[in-house]
Amino acid sequence: MAQQFEDKFHRKFYYLRLSVTDVCNFRCTYCLPDGYQPPGRKRPAFLTLEEIKRVVTAFADCGTSKVRITGGEPSLRKDFPQIIEAVANTQGIRKVATTTNGYRMAKQVATWREAGLTHINVSVDSLDPRMFHQITGENKFFDVMAGIDRALEIGYPQVKVNVVLMKDRNAKQLPEFLQWIKDRPIQLRFIELMQTGEMDELFNNHHVSGVEIRNQLIANGWILKAKGESDGPAQVFVHADYQGEIGLIMPYEKNFCESCNRLRVSAMGKLHLCLFGEQGVDLRDLLQHDSQENALIERIQTQLQNKSVSHFLHDGNSGMTPNLASIGG
Ligand code: SAM
Ligand code: SF4
Repeated sequence: MAQQFEDKFHRKFYYLRLSVTDVCNFRCTYCLPDGYQPPGRKRPAFLTLEEIKRVVTAFADCGTSKVRITGGEPSLRKDFPQIIEAVANTQGIRKVATTTNGYRMAKQVATWREAGLTHINVSVDSLDPRMFHQITGENKFFDVMAGIDRALEIGYPQVKVNVVLMKDRNAKQLPEFLQWIKDRPIQLRFIELMQTGEMDELFNNHHVSGVEIRNQLIANGWILKAKGESDGPAQVFVHADYQGEIGLIMPYEKNFCESCNRLRVSAMGKLHLCLFGEQGVDLRDLLQHDSQENALIERIQTQLQNKSVSHFLHDGNSGMTPNLASIGG
């Protein structure tokens, strides 16, 4: 193995989030409220299967054991099962995850599992179908729910569900969410709304801290679970009476970045050291031949030395990220 990816703050990177497309068919108010807008001028296509194989191989050779395939909506890619398979067949990769809006899950999740997908995160911002429609712009609540049921039915031991926490939308729906996970193996993760370049008013109107939910959980006997090596910054709570778990992702909380173990590669082949960082460093010229692997690793190692200790969200600085669909949330 080449030298493990590590930054100057001794953080090791086991986890790659790989975006395979910017395109999405939903219009979530906090992400792509006007839907996906194709760029005015022609630009290069998204990473090809061959380029994906090369980037994942280089990461795996430097200690990465988990890859999340994300987007935009990753399942919009026709070769999504082939991408899963290529990642799963890379030596050293033990976990292949995806984050999806779930619209295609009921029909396709069995194929994804066969291809080697080990973990699934689905976004469900409300259990009220009308509110779901209002937030995502799509009337697909029941399709997404059927997708989750199907994933559990075909043998996934657990499905993670992402909920972006929003004041006046879902922040008061904790009892409904708890009821839903009582007898289901679901890890429901409340993600605090993050400010991105294209959103100001929405953030000011709807951002709410996860602290209140955490206090309610603790008051009702929920217990914080210890973290594993490849776990991210989520705080996960468990309760003896519930099959499901609750996760809290609170990027505005102090020390959030201390446990950062992830790097990102965009659908255009740019390395991003942080979700809220810079413009990204192009890797694509080094993804054209297998023989370029050493040069690719060297470029990533060099860039890693520039990774900041923390994001600057507290100062209202969300970096160059216009929305999370653009570099893979
Ligand atoms: N389309 C897929 C989906 O929605 O699950 C994958 C990409 S999406 C960008 C990944 C995750 O980022 C989703 O769970 C989404 O809810 C979350 N997300 C997007 N914009 C966000 C924001 N501004 N703040 C917090 N979470 C956000
Ligand atoms: Fe699409 Fe996911 Fe963004 Fe919603 S959060 S608009 S589903 S990329």
